Order: sequence, then C-alpha cells, then structure tokens
Amino acid sequence: MIIKSVNLETVCGITSKIPDNQLSEFAFAGKSNVGKSSLINALMNRKSYARTSSQPGKTQTINFYNINDEVYLVDLPGYGYAKVSQSEKEKWGWMIESYLKKSKVLRQVFLLVDIRHEPGANDKQMYEWIVHNGYRPIIIATKADKIKRSQLQKQLKLIREGLGLEKSDVMIPFSAETKQGREEIWEYLEGADQP
Ligand code: GDP
Repeated sequence: MIIKSVNLETVCGITSKIPDNQLSEFAFAGKSNVGKSSLINALMNRKSYARTSSQPGKTQTINFYNINDEVYLVDLPGYGYAKVSQSEKEKWGWMIESYLKKSKVLRQVFLLVDIRHEPGANDKQMYEWIVHNGYRPIIIATKADKIKRSQLQKQLKLIREGLGLEKSDVMIPFSAETKQGREEIWEYLEGADQP
C-alpha cells in the first residue's frame, strides 16, 4: 500500500469508550520493548510517529492510527513491565479485553515476540487470550536482523513450541532495521475482508 496519510486519530485510556470505527482494524500486541512501535512506524513509513520505547510507568493507552482513510493500525499497550503495580496490570487487562470483545471491525491480531528469546509466560498467556477471544493471531518474530540466517529456523521452532502454536498459525520474521517482512505483513492488511 502506498502510504498517503497517517493520523493518530484516537487514544483510548482506561475510561475512554472504544471507538465505533467503520474501517478494518489490525491490532498489535506484545511485551514492552519487543519492537512494536518500530514495527508500526515501519509499516507507516514513519521514523517516529508511533511512540517509541518503553518509559516505565508511561500511560497505558490503545492508539488508533488511521492509514489513508483505509485501515486502522491499533497499538495495544505493551505488557511485562517489571515495576507495574497489580492495579495497573488489572487496568491493562481490562482495556485489552474490552477492546478484543467490543471491536466490530477488528480483522486480525498480530502478536509480537522477540526472535532471539523463548516466549515468556506472559506471551503465552496473551496468545491464549487472543485465541480465547476468537482470533487466530499472526506471530511476528521481531528484530530478525539480530540473529544469523543460519539460526532462523531454530528460533522460529523455539517460538512455535514455546507458544504452543498450531500448524496453521502464521509466523513472520520482521526487522525494523532491514524492513524484512514488511511487505508480507502489508499483504495481510490489504488482503483482509472489509467490514
Ligand atoms: P516497543 O516498546 O515494543 O514499542 O519497542 P520499540 O519499538 O520502542 O523498540 C525497543 C528497542 O528495540 C529500541 O531500542 C529499538 O531501536 C529496538 N528495535 C526495535 N525493533 C528492532 C529491530 O528490528 N532490529 C533491531 N536491531 N532493533 C530493534
């Protein structure tokens, strides 16, 4: 897709209502620091439009980026901050759950995991939660430039087993540095049915 316009249209906090959008939404979930902002910026051809890097304690919001008035990229709040209080975690869970349940135009959820590491318990929980809400996530293995080509298959297998993926689940290695995987992800964004 040729990116003509990018607009952070809605920022949802804990008390905000989930917007009743008409265009298809594609949501991105993952641990903080996994490279979610970098991926969203790469998809939008922007250097730093999506918030980058995790400032501990930063406000947890769901951000809706309108692309070309054609689709929304939805940046879900990152998880896995060590220093977050239990009540913050509960707010986070409530926000994501209400979004997954309430959106009528969510077409696909992408779950990001770092290609270098075995998925953690919270990644597995997120995967199961997405599935429980009726979506089959596409797994994006981020920071693919950080491993050798010869390690790729081994790492993908580690992630597949760690998350307990099914054979049909799609995994896409991605790098914000080299843009490897960007086109493939866009194919999923463009190929989904319109609402
Ligand atoms: P977020 O917290 O998930 O939004 O993660 P960020 O996008 O802010 O990235 C966290 C850190 O990882 C930053 O220092 C990025 O520069 C780095 N990073 C993100 N994606 C990549 C990538 O594909 N390759 C490399 N080498 N570094 C990356």
